[in-house]
Amino acid sequence: MGHRAAKDTLITWQEQAAAAVVDADRLAAVLPIDHDAVARVARVYPLRISSHFLSLIKSPGDPLWRQVVPDPAELADPGGLADPLAEAAHSPAPGLIHRYPDRVVWLVAGRCATHCRFCFRKARLGKAEDLTDTQIEQGLDHIRRTPAIWEVILSGGDPLMLSDRRLEDILTALDGIAHVAVRRIHTRVPVTLPQRITPALTALLARFQPLYLMIHCNHPAELTAASTAAIDSLADAGLPLGSQTVVLRGINDDPAVMAELFKTLVQRRVRPYDLHLADPAAGTAHFRTGPQTAVALAKALRGHVSGLCQPHLLVDLPAGGGKVPLAPRYGRKKAATAWEVENYRGQRVRVNFPGK
Ligand code: SF4
Repeated sequence: MGHRAAKDTLITWQEQAAAAVVDADRLAAVLPIDHDAVARVARVYPLRISSHFLSLIKSPGDPLWRQVVPDPAELADPGGLADPLAEAAHSPAPGLIHRYPDRVVWLVAGRCATHCRFCFRKARLGKAEDLTDTQIEQGLDHIRRTPAIWEVILSGGDPLMLSDRRLEDILTALDGIAHVAVRRIHTRVPVTLPQRITPALTALLARFQPLYLMIHCNHPAELTAASTAAIDSLADAGLPLGSQTVVLRGINDDPAVMAELFKTLVQRRVRPYDLHLADPAAGTAHFRTGPQTAVALAKALRGHVSGLCQPHLLVDLPAGGGKVPLAPRYGRKKAATAWEVENYRGQRVRVNFPGK
């Protein structure tokens, strides 16, 4: 099995993006799906799988299949929320989310190269548009009038699905705001559409330092030769790279899978940054794990793999309460200045500290 669409004959990244599979008929031609079930789900949460990502699926239900192929379980999530992080309530301008004092998330792009079935902005899939010129101006106006904004995080959709010209305009405008010291782009494109990482794009991004790229990657099988070449070119251009990962039930909630993912990323010069508990977005219940599973994962990695391979484990609180780190409990206070501290082998050692 496997999809070998016309990717070898397509030249530009735009042609590669346009070759994505977006309906059950085309998907059924390359994967052994239940056509009617997929079509039913895709009418609610639209389907899009890039030719590249489709080519990575090796067997029904494998970790890549499960991330992108519509599943009837998506329609059986009565407790899921359309906007689990209450982003709309923290939006002073279209697409702009101002939750924390010193930074904003700006949903400049509506499209993604591939629709991830676990996405916490799943309600936007296939419906959101890129921001218009007027909306961009409204966002810039808020950023200009708010000197506390030190960092602007471009998200979406996937910001790297915008044209080079559009990205350049946005980054140039941000560059002209003195108090915006740092820019960040959250993207899944290096693993879903690596053809998008062209020499022209890397040269463009490198002009707007400090610009951090956070690459969303969930499984080591996503790091193919094409993806690693794309990531290498971003690193060679001098862009600081980090990653974000979502804990997904049955896909990566396994210490061996996580260790391989984080070690491979570090070898590619990508620092694992965030490890998220899946948010309660409607249509994603079958992907979610509880904090106990996630904390146990973090504990299994600690000490066994390099500190470079340890992202923060985060949970997003409901109603826009913000991100909070979760961590295994390694220390317990036993007396005024004495603690019992557990090491990665599970050995407990009593330590007397000189002060509180
Ligand atoms: S690329 Fe990101 S925003 Fe787009 S569907 Fe996947 S997780 Fe959601």
